[in-house]
Order: sequence, then structure tokens, then C-alpha cells
Amino acid sequence: MKKIIYVDMDGVIANFAKAAEEGGWKHRPDKYVDYRELEVMPGATEALHLLNQDFDIFIASTPPWDRPDMWGAKRKWIAEHFPYLKRKLMLTHRKDLLIGDILIDDSRWRGQPDFKGDWLWFGSNQRCLDWPSTLELIYKKHA
Ligand SMILES: [Mg+2]
Repeated sequence: MKKIIYVDMDGVIANFAKAAEEGGWKHRPDKYVDYRELEVMPGATEALHLLNQDFDIFIASTPPWDRPDMWGAKRKWIAEHFPYLKRKLMLTHRKDLLIGDILIDDSRWRGQPDFKGDWLWFGSNQRCLDWPSTLELIYKKHA
């Protein structure tokens, strides 16, 4: 059985920071960013295509609670950019409750530190600074 990887959206495969910066939103950009318009993060397309051959990939994202339309926007974004991940989207505010082997996430405020598998804190340090270094780490530790 393939190992299960959960991949966060904003800051990992969807370029939330770029949209926030371009919109000029410094405080609580999650209230304003149009999630439909986010660009794919550099290297994410190639990385997920590769990982999808060796792992069972799911997307795990926390949409803004007060913007329910953005929950659907995330579903559409996945269909547009990662169509092979159809029906593999988890929307949750509790990532510690996900059952799997690896969680790739740039935030630590939704239970990520208590995830029972291996949480890779994307962008936090040299080990998983970006997609190339994260892929190297995953294949070294988990393949
Ligand atoms: Mg994130």
C-alpha cells in the first residue's frame, strides 16, 4: 500500500503570499484574497506529478470560515490545476485529526504539530525550504 501524503494548499501549492502582496493586504489577507485566482507555487506542478506516482496524495486545506464561497473555490482550483486529485480534497480546521504518513504544510496553527505522521514544515528551514528540497527529503526518508 502506498504511503499517504496530505498537501496543504495556501503557501504550499497555491501562491497565497503573492496574491496578498499584490492586493496590498497586510492584515488578515485571508479575508480578502480571491482564492480562485491564486497561481500555482513554483515547482508544485512537477512535484505533485512525481509524488502521485509513488504516494497516495490528498489535499488538506483550511478555508476561511466566514467565506463559505471560498470552500467551493478551493474545490474548483484543484480541478483546474490538479485534476487527477479528483475527490481527494479534505477541508478541515483540525489537521491533527488526519490519518496518514506525511503532512506538508507551511502553518502550525491548525493542529499540524500534533499530526501523528511526519509533518514537513514547508518553507521553515533548509530541509523543506521549497519543492526541490522537500522532494529530496521525502524520497530520502519515506520512499
Ligand atoms: Mg498553508
